[in-house]
Amino acid sequence: MQQRPTHATVDLDAIRANAQLLVKAAAPAQLMAVVKADGYGHGAVPAAQAALAGGATWLGVALVEEGRHLRSNGIDAPILLLSEPPIDAAVETVALGLTPTVYTKEGISALNEAAAASGSTVAVHLKIDTGMRRVGVDPEHALQIAELVQNSPSLSLSGTMTHLAVADESIAGAEQQLERFDAVLTAMRAHGIDPGCCHASNSAGLLSVERGKYDMVRTGIALYGLPPVATELALEPALSLVSRVGFVKRVHADEGISYGWRYHTAHETTIVTVPIGYADGVRRAMWAVGGEVLIRGRRFPIAGTVTMDQLMVDVGNAEVVVGDLVTLLGRDGAERITADDWGSALGTISYEVVSGLSPRVPRRYKEDG
Ligand SMILES: *Cc1c(COP(=O)(O)O)cnc(C)c1O
Repeated sequence: MQQRPTHATVDLDAIRANAQLLVKAAAPAQLMAVVKADGYGHGAVPAAQAALAGGATWLGVALVEEGRHLRSNGIDAPILLLSEPPIDAAVETVALGLTPTVYTKEGISALNEAAAASGSTVAVHLKIDTGMRRVGVDPEHALQIAELVQNSPSLSLSGTMTHLAVADESIAGAEQQLERFDAVLTAMRAHGIDPGCCHASNSAGLLSVERGKYDMVRTGIALYGLPPVATELALEPALSLVSRVGFVKRVHADEGISYGWRYHTAHETTIVTVPIGYADGVRRAMWAVGGEVLIRGRRFPIAGTVTMDQLMVDVGNAEVVVGDLVTLLGRDGAERITADDWGSALGTISYEVVSGLSPRVPRRYKEDG
């Protein structure tokens, strides 16, 4: 039984509806729902199921462990590992029926051996580094690595991909990467290598670079209703974060609040305490960057340093009682606080906010169908 009145609610209808909108925007390209990092904090299994119900045909994860979690929860959709698995994870990758991304000789050889040992042919996607400089083979060596895959008897090259570094900031930068990608695809075809399913775009790419769709797009953040660029699509944030007022007191003027006494009451006021803290993913510095919460449909400032398990809110002379709902992310009446609001206040992005909610916060799922 849950005792602490703090939880995140994930609206699975919103994820499904977002997937439907993204499927339409991507068509005729397919939609991959990226559910790494526990579905960006939303819960990988329910998020994956909702996205598949909305028309996504592929799932994307960062880790073999994440693929294992989906498979052991009965998800049998195609799953792409977005980076090459570690050599000693090749056997499990094959056993789980994950589709690995490849870009090194060692990785290709380990997967070929694991596939041969299992008596199967394993489909792989080749990753080309066209400018992200994270993982992937650079364009100069792409052909050589593609040939290596082709000459691996137990592997088949079923896709070729790249990843965009600046699609949310510079369409020209994204176009430059796509030109490099196209040059590799052309060279592959000229050498009789079918690149298979080609894909390049993340959420920002899908929403801002028309020609980046190819055969599939890989969307994460937009699926959760937090598009990284302006869009006309009516994407809905799926996650809300709420707690309840746990303690209420009047405090005199000129009192310091919380560790360091960095927040001072300007006049006599009501300070309430809410049982959620930085160990839940509410950053310690939230108060200093203008962090607010919603209570009874009104905005109030977080007062003082967020502590590990609790934070304080200055509600002035408002009538607030123990048990009142406190909304940290989401809507209350006409007011709304989004993960983008937190992200811009904290000098980060919504991705870090939602994926940074800790496992201590129970997730509840809402689905009307
Ligand atoms: C995380 C990731 C994505 C999804 O990116 P969003 O910006 O969340 O849409 C796509 N492709 C790769 C390779 C990724 O690592």
